[in-house]
Formats: sequence, structure tokens, C-alpha cells
Amino acid sequence: TRRKYVVGNWKMNGLTAALDEAGAIFAAAEAYPSVDVALCPPFTLVGAMAAAVPGAAVGGQDCHAADSGAFTGSVAAPMLADAGATLVIVGHSERREGFGESDADVRAKAAAALAAGLSVILCVGEPRAVRESGEAIAYVLAQIAGSLPDDADPARLAIAYEPIWAIGTGLVPTVADVADMHGAIRAKLAEQAGAAAAQAMRILYGGSVNGDNAAELLGTGDVDGALVGGASLTAGKFGPIVAAA
Ligand code: 13P
Repeated sequence: TRRKYVVGNWKMNGLTAALDEAGAIFAAAEAYPSVDVALCPPFTLVGAMAAAVPGAAVGGQDCHAADSGAFTGSVAAPMLADAGATLVIVGHSERREGFGESDADVRAKAAAALAAGLSVILCVGEPRAVRESGEAIAYVLAQIAGSLPDDADPARLAIAYEPIWAIGTGLVPTVADVADMHGAIRAKLAEQAGAAAAQAMRILYGGSVNGDNAAELLGTGDVDGALVGGASLTAGKFGPIVAAA
């Protein structure tokens, strides 16, 4: 059985003072030992957060596909691991859309992260126009086909389904639509990685998750957790989501 997994993506938020809040988040999560909890702060806080909260799962929000080299401004997966990270998000829609990352780029990043010993959260999700055209499932399955690395350790690879129109908008898909999408993703994973791996891989939902909707979303078939943006910045908002898992 898959353990529930609730991951906070702080995006470009957080100065040193926010480490206290991270400590409060991880402390509150200790009351729910059946839930895996992780935080992905900006790169600048990864090392400090990992050091401040021993044993906590701290991750990056992106990594480069290469281990080192002339890539000004980028951070490599072994650097994240060296800083104390145990996971990294790849393929977030804000990277795909804002930084032009292709499925092939995302696949290479995921492979580099796995090779560095990190766990991966690989994001997929459709834009609003695709949802309205009725092609959301086909669109997301094509993203999986293009960005899932070969032979990924299922214990270290999770998919996050984040419909772009639901991110930061307060809009969420219907529970039926989430169940349909997650079921289709699991079937696709079985096709690509084998049935056993597909059963072991966790599929998270992301997009406007909060304390009020978390129980319903996390109770939906094939939803193994949540990737949370805005509501992950404080223990007051994140705690109820962990509790609902
Ligand atoms: P919100 O929870 O703020 O909608 O963000 C979701 C997200 O993009 C997490 O990666």
C-alpha cells in the first residue's frame, strides 16, 4: 500500500526567518506518522532547512540535467543532495511554461535527480483550453510518455497532477475528474513501467489544495497525496492538509 505524501512547494517565497515556520510544519507533522511530509523551499534555504530540521525531507524545486558545468544560475542534482535535500520537483508548469522546459528536458532532469540519489516529483497538467476542449487526459498522458524516465525506482518517483488552471486560482476539478485523470495516469504508468511499478508509484494532486478541500481530494481513488503551493507556507494552513491525509 502506498503511504500518503504531502509536499509543500514554497515556490519563490521564503527568507531565513521562514525556517521557524518550517520547523513548526515538520513538528506538527510528527503527529501523523503514517503521512510522508516534505517541503521544497527556494534553493537558498535548502541547506539551512535541512540542517535546522534533522531528518526532515527537504527538496529543491528544479534541477539541471547535467551534474556540473557552464550553466550560470542553475543547480545540479548532486548539489541538492550535497546540501541535504532528499527530493526535487521537476517539470512544474511554472518551469514548463515560464522557462520553456520540454518533456525531454523534464525527463533528463528526472533521470539526473534519480542518479544523484534524490526522490523525484514529476509534474504534469493541462492548461485551461485543453481541459475545455475535452483533451485533458490525452494531453497529460502524452506528457507522461515524454517525461517519465526509463527504469525509475517506483519508491523514488511520484507523479504530481496539477491542472494549470487550478494552480493559485481557488478552482479545483471535480472529484470525478480527478479520479478519472489519476486512474488514467496509473494505467499509463503500468504501460510504461510495468504493473508492479505503477502500483507502487504515488500520484499526487496539486492545485488550490487547502484545509477545506484536502480530505475530499485525498480520499479520491488513486490520489496518494498532495502538492501544495500557497497553503504550504504556514503550519496553520499546511497542518490541516497533513491531518486530512
Ligand atoms: P497552489 O496550491 O498555490 O494552487 O499551487 C499549487 C502548485 O503549483 C504546487 O506545486
